[in-house]
Amino acid sequence: MLFSRMLIPTLKEDPAEAEAVSHKLLLRAGMIRKLASGIYNYLPLGLRVLRKVERLVREEMNRAGAQEVLLPAVQPGELWQESGRWQIYGKELLRFKDRHGRDCCFGPTHEEVITDLVRREVHSYRQLPLNLYQIQMKFRDEMRPRFGLIRGREFLMKDGYSFHASEADAETCYQDMYDAYNRIFQRCGLRFKVVEADSGPIGGSFSHEFMVLAETGEDVLASCLACDYAANLEKAEVVLAAANPGAAPATAAPEEVHTPEVRTVEEVAAFLNVSTADIVKTLIYETENGPVALLIRGDHEVNEVKVKNLLRVTDLTLAGAGRVRELTGAEVGFAGPVDLNLPIYADQAVAAMAAAVTGANKTDHHLVRVHPARDFQVTQTADLRTVTAQDRCPRCGGELTLLRGIEVGHIFKLGTKYSQALKAVFLDEAGQEQLIFMGCYGIGVSRIVAAAIEQGNDDQGMIFPMALAPFQVGLIPISLNDAATREKALELHAAMEAAGLEVLFDDRDERPGVKFKDCDLLGLPVRVVLGPKTLAKGMAEVRQRRSGETVMVPLEGLLSHLQEIIRQEMD
Ligand code: ATP
Ligand code: MG
Repeated sequence: MLFSRMLIPTLKEDPAEAEAVSHKLLLRAGMIRKLASGIYNYLPLGLRVLRKVERLVREEMNRAGAQEVLLPAVQPGELWQESGRWQIYGKELLRFKDRHGRDCCFGPTHEEVITDLVRREVHSYRQLPLNLYQIQMKFRDEMRPRFGLIRGREFLMKDGYSFHASEADAETCYQDMYDAYNRIFQRCGLRFKVVEADSGPIGGSFSHEFMVLAETGEDVLASCLACDYAANLEKAEVVLAAANPGAAPATAAPEEVHTPEVRTVEEVAAFLNVSTADIVKTLIYETENGPVALLIRGDHEVNEVKVKNLLRVTDLTLAGAGRVRELTGAEVGFAGPVDLNLPIYADQAVAAMAAAVTGANKTDHHLVRVHPARDFQVTQTADLRTVTAQDRCPRCGGELTLLRGIEVGHIFKLGTKYSQALKAVFLDEAGQEQLIFMGCYGIGVSRIVAAAIEQGNDDQGMIFPMALAPFQVGLIPISLNDAATREKALELHAAMEAAGLEVLFDDRDERPGVKFKDCDLLGLPVRVVLGPKTLAKGMAEVRQRRSGETVMVPLEGLLSHLQEIIRQEMD
């Protein structure tokens, strides 16, 4: 391919609008351009990378027995009414009306549409199992679209859905998808980790996320250094460190102390000269089922996902100052569990405290020497906090480490949630009507492009894995004005293309320095430079982008040399 013929509008400067390195580099390399917030044009080079990801995903899904379909992007609102999600999906769902005034939405995901298809076409156990997937643009009106392709509003997703006559069969398919996903991300050349993910109040280990490891990732995962336990921080379980639940009260009854203007945990700790671990934070939350109080030790963080699952609610927001006053009788900062007339949920670490400092439900006052079991009653004690690197692995007791990651894939055992709502049933061998078991499996195809760049880059630009690079080889003639160089370069270019190499021939009338810079910026894994001097010796210079390793290769062996590099890197 000739560079001069392609639309590759590279930029010399970092665009000011981009924070994430992948976003900057995608813009600088002329791979994408923003049309509107979270909505991008894919230019030829960007599309080449996207298509490579797509091809890998397709190959592995097909290999795993899934069949490709293409469902409509625009969906009737009625289906979402039927599943109940029209009400609960929130503003991420782009809703509009057609000319007849009918509710429509642009699909952010396709459980409804695919379940509708299957309920119409599948009636017997003989037609099951079925595993269908598509690769298609989704739209989610994200609250904060950011980091370019990492969190767009319009983005390319592979979404797959499987249908089964039994739960056991659904679990087998889940395992097959787990394996297929591992192959996909390995073949993409990414460093990733599979983590247990939150699967809502049902719990269990039937949801896994695939995380590309990168400092810039929005997700945090806890990973055990001793065993293979890894979980999203939202989900990672806390084991109680050799605690003494129900420890005897340390001292006499609680005592009220005057703590003027002392509100935060740090302020209270400093004022009363105690450690933050001696304090109980009382947080008042609003939920769709009314307000609740959460108790958490002063040095711990509430895990709202765990709280939502425990309470089986979808709305969980901290109460405003007015509501806190109304419910506790005190300003924010002075709420406490003693004589509080609200459902109280305590983290397990709170239940193990012997003498705690809490708010007194009286402005400018706290209580000291509060003993949980003695001085107040809780509705339930549970694991409600977020793990830290100081916690131990819930499986083996080993050391935990916290890593950052970008979620590129998610597999989920759905059970009968959608088949129940949409009445997708089949007749079993005994002629009995049964609900279909389902699983769903997503991959962020366009997000992978960005994740690969977050993981592979340096000061000069992108460093693509061979499998995803827009071209495998950049061919740079030092001087096109030199007839011999020009001729040889054209000849080599033709030979490379004939041999099936993906080569970008930089035939532009630019200085070599400019071409070298662009070649590095685009992250092409191998650079071949031809100059009059080296050609006179029958050699070409071959440099690898990632290692920087440069060797002189005799022209007659050049093709096989390049093929060998590519073969090695694709393995
Ligand atoms: P996130 O927590 O990042 O919002 P999600 O849990 O909403 O992701 P899913 O509904 O499981 O995501 O979608 C499947 C995959 O689609 C995700 O694993 C992710 O890779 C990708 N994805 C989700 N939202 C976006 C987005 N706004 N932009 C790009 N890719 C996305
Ligand atoms: Mg999301």
